[in-house]
Order: sequence, then structure tokens, then C-alpha cells
Amino acid sequence: MTKHQETNVAAGFPRRSLLLGAAAVLAAGPLARTAVAATAAARTPKVLVIGLDGTMLNRIKDADAPNLDALMAGGLTAASSLYANPMAATASGPGWSTIATGVWPDKHNVRDNNFTAPAFAAYPDFLTRIENAAPALSTYAVASWAPIADTIYSGKVDTRVATPSAEYDTGTTARAVARLRDGNPDAVFVQLDNVDHAGHSSGAASQAYLDAIHGVDAQVGQIVAAVRGRATYGQEDWLIMVTADHGHTDAGGHGGSTWSERQTFVIATGSAFPAGSVRHDVRIVDIAPTAIAHLGLAIDPAWQLDGSPIPGLVPDAFDALRPQLTGPVDETGIAAGTIGFTHTPPSGWSIDNSAMGTGGVTEWRGWSFTTDEFWTKTQRDQYRELNVRSRNVFAVADSDEWADKTFKGDYDTTLVSPEYPVAGLSAVPVSYTTYYQQEGAQTAQVLAVWDGGTPVPVKSYTAETNGRQSLLLTVPAGASRLRLRFRYTGSNNWYWVLDNVRVG
Ligand SMILES: [Zn+2]
Repeated sequence: MTKHQETNVAAGFPRRSLLLGAAAVLAAGPLARTAVAATAAARTPKVLVIGLDGTMLNRIKDADAPNLDALMAGGLTAASSLYANPMAATASGPGWSTIATGVWPDKHNVRDNNFTAPAFAAYPDFLTRIENAAPALSTYAVASWAPIADTIYSGKVDTRVATPSAEYDTGTTARAVARLRDGNPDAVFVQLDNVDHAGHSSGAASQAYLDAIHGVDAQVGQIVAAVRGRATYGQEDWLIMVTADHGHTDAGGHGGSTWSERQTFVIATGSAFPAGSVRHDVRIVDIAPTAIAHLGLAIDPAWQLDGSPIPGLVPDAFDALRPQLTGPVDETGIAAGTIGFTHTPPSGWSIDNSAMGTGGVTEWRGWSFTTDEFWTKTQRDQYRELNVRSRNVFAVADSDEWADKTFKGDYDTTLVSPEYPVAGLSAVPVSYTTYYQQEGAQTAQVLAVWDGGTPVPVKSYTAETNGRQSLLLTVPAGASRLRLRFRYTGSNNWYWVLDNVRVG
């Protein structure tokens, strides 16, 4: 449900950041943007990404972690979630590759820690993207987990360091601090490993795990202090992001599809991030493009990144439903209070269930609006974890889950969009994010309704689809209004997910 809106970068400003945050500038509109540009302070943009292996946001909040708490208080905090197999294991290889490249594992193709056939030539890490666009910039990567420096970040990065294992996070921290204090890097990635180690030894529910977070928090504090202590800090505009590659079970371990293993987060502080802000539509694929855009470099659509610069993310109509989502009714496996679902569409949208059967699981009787947590908790390992490109609240028609309680009739439901003006246009672009799993006689069809006439099919799905879809619809002569209908039919088959529908 987000779209990469025009940023100060796309608007053609030079590689200098603005005093005002990008979000505030966007909110203020084009006139304010011009005024801000005229008075912009010429601070040099720089970016630091700190990766904390296997660290969970809810446990950071439980731990004594004053430095991470201060970063959250001073900027953005966003819980995020991961895929599971068969897209990829919730493991370090896929996690750090996703963060580095800004694409999900079905693109970068790191499915586990074996790095069998990575697609890093097509989807390089963000430091390599920075080097390709601006070779004069100084890039640096240091990691306690060697494959990050040896395999994920490419040889185009100016300096890559796999810390000798005897030095572990102490050495990684010391190297990062030295580079940030004494050097002049423009983009830095640092990975610290010990929280994951504690997770494996003692579990995420343990005191040892909290103690490890306390330890890494002190190292984060040293690294951030090195940035803020730079002699040139006042002339620089630092974006600092903190993230993790996966979560852990309470008992310890990861790789699987439980909600806790699929946990990750983005913390971001810098001129574009309001203090104490919280978002639900951020995913870890946004880190790489946010870093690149912060340096004033253009994001080429040909890169096919799944992420977008965070300040430019625009909520969609479905996201507005979040406060109205309610907890489980028939889904007994989901803890009470878990947010949630609703059948009430946003303003202007409607649901046609006139051909829909009766009974079944309440939550999934016809199109429903829900979240990744609620939907994937219905039942694990039925590919719902692969819905990585939806953000915040999305729409789903799920004939499989509906059929888990006594029902009569067929699953036949249509989500109906608002009417969009198309007068005078010869063609109208329609785009949406979709995830579809095919089975049996199931159907999924997009239909166009011109001026209230007979619906005309414009797209149908008959095989697994996971991505952003773009259609260019020819406007019939004289037509002035377009409405879209998304019709799904099935009989205890799979599901169809829709998000971020944009017309025009
Ligand atoms: Zn691990």
C-alpha cells in the first residue's frame, strides 16, 4: 500500500540534503518544497546501517537498552515481518541479502545460508549501487558474520572487513568506530552477531538474551557516538538505521515460519524521520533504497527494487482501516486481541457477496481486510508467509480458510473499487500489488466497468503470482468513469491478495 512518491531527489535537487525532513517537505507541497530548496543548508548526506543479528524489537523494549531506546525516541520505529520457506528460511543469508539489496529472496535468490546461486549481479547490495552511481563516495562494510563481507557486499565496495572470529563483535565495533571517527565514509554497514548467539544458546525468552541486547546496545552507543563526535558532524546530515535479519523462538532458534522467527524491524533517525514516529507499512526491503535516496542518488525503476525510500511511502485506502480491525471470531488458533480483520471496506469501496455461500469461518467469508500477522497466524506453512509485498492492511479472499467451518455454497466474492474519472483519456494506467496461489477450478479476475456498463474482464490469474502488476486500459470512446471489480471464486482452494490499488 505504498508508492514511491516524488522525493526531493527525483525533483532534481543536487546531492545536498535539506534542513527540513523530506516527509515534512512532501506534506507541505510543491510550493513549500521550492521555498525550502532556496534556503536549504548544504549539509553532506551520510548513511550508517547497523545490523543486529537475530535481535527482536519486543525484546529490545524489554531489555536495558538506553542507546537503542534513544534512537527510537529520536526517530522512526517500525516492526516488520519476513517470508518463510519455500521463499526462504528465516536465516541470516536471506535476511542480510534482503536488507542489502532491497529485494525479496525470490529475486536475490539467497534461500538459506548456502548462497547456492545468488542473483547479486542483477540485484547488488546498496553500497555497490552507491559505488556504481557515485564512485567518489566512500563505502565501508564490516561484519562479525563473514559471508556478509565476503559474499553479500561486492568487491566494488571500497572496504569490506570480515572481522576475525577471535575479535568477534568487539573487533567489529572497534573497526566501525575507528572508520567513522577517523575516516570520512559516506555509507557504512555494520553487523553485530552476539544477540543471535545468545538466542541460540538460551532462547529469546531468556535473561541471557536480554543481557546480550544490553551488551550490543553499548556497542551501538559507541558507534553512534563516533558519528556524533566527528569534527565535521555539524556540516553532515546522517541517516542512521538499525535492523535485524530474523527473530528467534522463545526457546531459541530460527529458520522456520513462526511469527517470532519472522520478526524484524527498522529503526531510523535522521532529518526525514519525526521523533517518536511509528509506522506499520515499512519493510526491510526499504532500507537499501532509503540509504541510496538519502545520498541524493536516483533510484532507477529498472532495478526492480521491492523497497522504496521510507519518507516517500504513501499509505493506501486499505491502511486507513487499521484502527477498525478486530480480533478473532472463529479463528481459535489466534490469540484474542491480535489485530485483526474487518469486512467493512474503506470509503468508496464495496464488497459484492451476492453470490457468496453461507456459513464458513467468519473472518474469511468474502473479501476481508487484514494484516500479515493475523492472516499468517490462521495456519502456518500454506505459503501465506510469501505475501511479502503487501504492506500494513491488505485485502484477501481466502477460500481455504473459509472452508474450515461448516458452510453451504460456493466461495464467490467481488471487491469493487471507487469510480475513477477517465474523461478525455485514451488509456488509463491501473496498478496493484498482488499475491495469488492457484489451485483447482479457482478463478481470479479483474473486470473494468465503464460508465456503469457491463463488466469487461481485463486480467485473470491462473498461476502463482507475487508482485506489482501494471495494466494500461484503453478507455472506450466517450467513456468518463471507470470502476474496477476484483472477483475471486473457489471451493476450498487457496487465496488472492490485493494491495495498494492505484488508478491514473
Ligand atoms: Zn542464528
